[in-house]
Amino acid sequence: MKITKVQTTVVAVPDPPLRNVNGVHEPYAVRVILQVHTDDGVTGLGEMPGGTRFKAELDAAAAKVIGLNPYHTEWLRELFPDSPRLWSAFEVPCLDAVGKATGRSVSDLLGGGVRDRVPFSAYLFYKFATPDGWLETAAGTPKPWGEVGMYGWAAEVLTPEAMVDETAEFVRRYGFRTLKLKAGPLPPDEEVRTLRLIRERFGPDYPLRIDPNAGWSVETALRLLPQLEEIGLEYYEDPVRGMDAMAEVGRRTELPMATNMCLVGFKQFPEGVAKDAVQVVLADHHGWGGLWAMKQCGQICRIFGMGTSQHSNSHLGISMAAMIHAGATVPGLIYASDTHYPWQQGWDVVNETFTFTDGSLPVPTAPGLGVTLNQERLGRLAEIAAARPSERRDDLGTMRRWFPEWEAKAQRW
Ligand SMILES: [Mg+2]
Repeated sequence: MKITKVQTTVVAVPDPPLRNVNGVHEPYAVRVILQVHTDDGVTGLGEMPGGTRFKAELDAAAAKVIGLNPYHTEWLRELFPDSPRLWSAFEVPCLDAVGKATGRSVSDLLGGGVRDRVPFSAYLFYKFATPDGWLETAAGTPKPWGEVGMYGWAAEVLTPEAMVDETAEFVRRYGFRTLKLKAGPLPPDEEVRTLRLIRERFGPDYPLRIDPNAGWSVETALRLLPQLEEIGLEYYEDPVRGMDAMAEVGRRTELPMATNMCLVGFKQFPEGVAKDAVQVVLADHHGWGGLWAMKQCGQICRIFGMGTSQHSNSHLGISMAAMIHAGATVPGLIYASDTHYPWQQGWDVVNETFTFTDGSLPVPTAPGLGVTLNQERLGRLAEIAAARPSERRDDLGTMRRWFPEWEAKAQRW
């Protein structure tokens, strides 16, 4: 079996105005969809974050991948030293192709699942109301929010009380139990009050998380600790920037410190372990080097007594499927994984869109990843991308379109 051709397509998926410490999401999130064709007649699918520049990088790398046997993914590390993104970009479609050729799921190829459903967390964002013109820059693109509708999508969620309503809707619709608050937009005391209201509303059986994306000072993170401990957190995610600051906060609490910002690759394990900077690693197969890398990460975490969870960016169904297979086959991945998928509101490039039940998704058992490409949907999202070239989400620039005086601040609070 040999790879004969690699097709890459930049797509843009509509995204609501979700707030974070840096600013606000753009109207579209860009992804690159990979189709890796083989001489067996099967095609493996992949999805990566990135736009036209990353597509060009992938297209250049594809020249080296043509002729590779999809069973031999270890070669990717030899072909692209020090580029975990390229390993991931090609490894996932190779696994998908091998699975389709052999009639086995990607989970089976990774050693088999240790769970048949993978739990996910509600990803709770403060957000602006969707403004007029938000999605109209792509000519001829209908407004998706008007088509599909969702409680709260047309409304602002900028107060603790409004966030409780949003949370209730996520719980009602998808059955999520683990509730993660994206912090940073409001003053930290208001965000802690938000968590308190959520705790009061849903009781003790809903694990809570807060993630200010390192937008808080050590002083702020420590000042709020007693309240957060009283409310009860499953983990305290990146309140502060860098391993030293995370370790400093971590020394003062029994709450596990979690990160997808200061320990984001294998090379950082020695420092992270030496400093006891984090107790939970939110790994991401797109950035860590693929699905085998997720398993290796999980094993290293286990050796050092750390937990593993999954980080998420705005994504479509191919990445969703890959995340489920990772979640099924990494034994130590006991925390609910993050996902932005509900925010994409059904926009996808696959035929088998995902519906959460009891806050979890079943592990696909069909060959490969268990998803197939819908060419019409791919074409539509590719048209949107072509009308709106972008490389990566610009939260700061998007915020400044409404608030020109908005300042860039690594540490806002
Ligand atoms: Mg995070």
